[in-house]
Amino acid sequence: MDIVVMPGDGIGPEITAATLNVLRAANEAFGLDIRYEIHEIGLGTLKTQGTTLPPAVMERARAVDGAILGPVSTFDYPMRAEGGINQSAEFRIGLDLYANIRPCRSRPGLSLSHTPMDLIIVRENTEGFYADRNMFAGTGEFMPTPDMALSVRKITAQACERVTRTAFELARGRRKKVTAVHKANVLKVTDGLFLREVRKVAAEFPDIELDELIVDAAAAILVRDAQRFDVIVTTNMFGDILSDEASELSGSLGLGGSLNAGAGYAVAQAQHGSAPDIAGRDRANPVSLILSSAMLLDWLGARHRNNALGNAAVAINRAVDQALADPATRTPDIGGPLGTARFGEVVARGVMSQAARAA
Ligand code: NAD
Repeated sequence: MDIVVMPGDGIGPEITAATLNVLRAANEAFGLDIRYEIHEIGLGTLKTQGTTLPPAVMERARAVDGAILGPVSTFDYPMRAEGGINQSAEFRIGLDLYANIRPCRSRPGLSLSHTPMDLIIVRENTEGFYADRNMFAGTGEFMPTPDMALSVRKITAQACERVTRTAFELARGRRKKVTAVHKANVLKVTDGLFLREVRKVAAEFPDIELDELIVDAAAAILVRDAQRFDVIVTTNMFGDILSDEASELSGSLGLGGSLNAGAGYAVAQAQHGSAPDIAGRDRANPVSLILSSAMLLDWLGARHRNNALGNAAVAINRAVDQALADPATRTPDIGGPLGTARFGEVVARGVMSQAARAA
């Protein structure tokens, strides 16, 4: 099996190196036979090749079994015509990765939420307010006059339906509850359409409870009573914001895994950005990218009916939990002393001992 790895910008190369350390340990411990090929993208290739996503990298990514995408400094990219391609958009639209699956869990001694949290946010990934990807041609933002700017938010029945289906299927293997988060009190047409599709899909899953919540209340309840949530399904931007909130509540933005999944392809991608403020200082927390990569292994395991991949994903999760449980093996964002690279080594060793225990 081949996986394309794109370290990205800012802290990307550091957290990717730590993640690859863990993945290579998983390869060895579980006999996975996955080849990881590293390709440069981002500000580096903008300088050398005039684009943040060289066509050859995209072509190769399409040809392999899955991809790992590090965080990218999109805010610093020039316009698309000058080579500034947002790689997240390119993958999500180009490979139709319609569901962004973002689990979040509280852990003893780290969580800031008032009640225990164990939830998954399923975020629509191809439309909504994201102007650089929500139109067939042109962008969803424009300026009719120098002093007026408009953004168009696109919501389609098909996109709502399929992302809702993903959420209900996930809930079936969990606590059997889906909360649809919306703003249909104000956005009566667009979020009204979202809710219509959610209710249609819910009717096919009589064993799953459907809860509906306005997004502002959902943001507050996440802090006050996170255990109310099992699986949250929502539109693109609400999901982006709520998942950062949930990660931070679990202890740090650096803790939440994230998988972009479609019918036939998946991309592991850290939840957070490229954190330029701490880049190159060995201070970044690599957990988000490590857990995202474990999600990719699990997804590939289910797709190819390969138990070893699923077992490796479980071992990586356990090794991360073990490292985070000890204040001496935490990274600085959560008050620990370990650098990015050393943390990766600790988790890699943890994966080896998990495998030895399972044998
Ligand atoms: P950010 O997520 O990069 O950082 C926000 C804060 O969280 C910073 O203080 C940062 O140091 C901290 N942080 C983030 N990840 C961390 C980690 N793993 N360990 C420790 N601390 C961490 O958001 P930002 O500063 O708003 O954006 C920086 C750049 O990232 C921008 O160019 C933005 O466009 C881009 N961005 C990319 C993605 C992506 O690649 N998917 C997502 C969001 C933002």
